[in-house]
Amino acid sequence: MTTARVEVRQFSCLSDNFGVLIHVPETGGTIAVDVPDAAPYRAVLAETGWRLTDILVTHHHWDHVQGLGELKSETGARAVGPEMSRERIEGLDETVGDGDEITVAGLGFRAIATPGHTLDQISWWAPQAGLAHTGDTLFALGCGRIFEGDAAMMWASLDKLATLLPPETTVYCGHEYTLANARFAVTVDPDNAELAARAEEIERLRGDGQATLPTTMAAELATNPFLRARDPAIRRHLGLEGASDAEVFAEIRRRKDSF
Ligand code: ZN
Ligand code: FE
Repeated sequence: MTTARVEVRQFSCLSDNFGVLIHVPETGGTIAVDVPDAAPYRAVLAETGWRLTDILVTHHHWDHVQGLGELKSETGARAVGPEMSRERIEGLDETVGDGDEITVAGLGFRAIATPGHTLDQISWWAPQAGLAHTGDTLFALGCGRIFEGDAAMMWASLDKLATLLPPETTVYCGHEYTLANARFAVTVDPDNAELAARAEEIERLRGDGQATLPTTMAAELATNPFLRARDPAIRRHLGLEGASDAEVFAEIRRRKDSF
């Protein structure tokens, strides 16, 4: 396949996690990305009639792997996750490291190591389908909290995604945190008209109880302050014109942690 037609279902799991199922009609296979909870996956699989064949895992946190064992034993799906968590995540059949390419359900994925939130974090990119799942690394208008890495590491991971993923890439992620992210983003990038318009749209969507994901790389590059540490207006606003990109990112992350 040079381009692949896929059907994607995104649904909520636990309190604010997303479940994602990617169906490939050409092969009849279906891929889950993370399993916060088996029940909502079971429900969507029953509703669509899709057969789960593969599970891709982004990182070891419980809210991403909790339902893995249950869903695997019910469906017989194969699970692929980060090599770094080979011992830590129960039920992985195969592990990958940075740059590894695998084919699941007939669809090619590239594993992009994006450490920072956790050290094992993998972002999954399917170039033929024009989509990526960035786990708890890149969120809509935000990024994951830094638990295991440091700010320089997280900045390098976000910048890597910005470099590798084409702007038209559809981006899924682990959590619906967009409303809080939007309210914060406008405080560090107050003169960004595109951000202001997006923040308004997000207030409306969340007010109606609708999901704000997926997003696109283009939208994130234009409005997500965590990808925009090079932006002169943000630097001026923070009084960090002479700082390195990683230092500007670190300051934005620090402010968000106490917002
Ligand atoms: Zn996490
Ligand atoms: Fe999470």
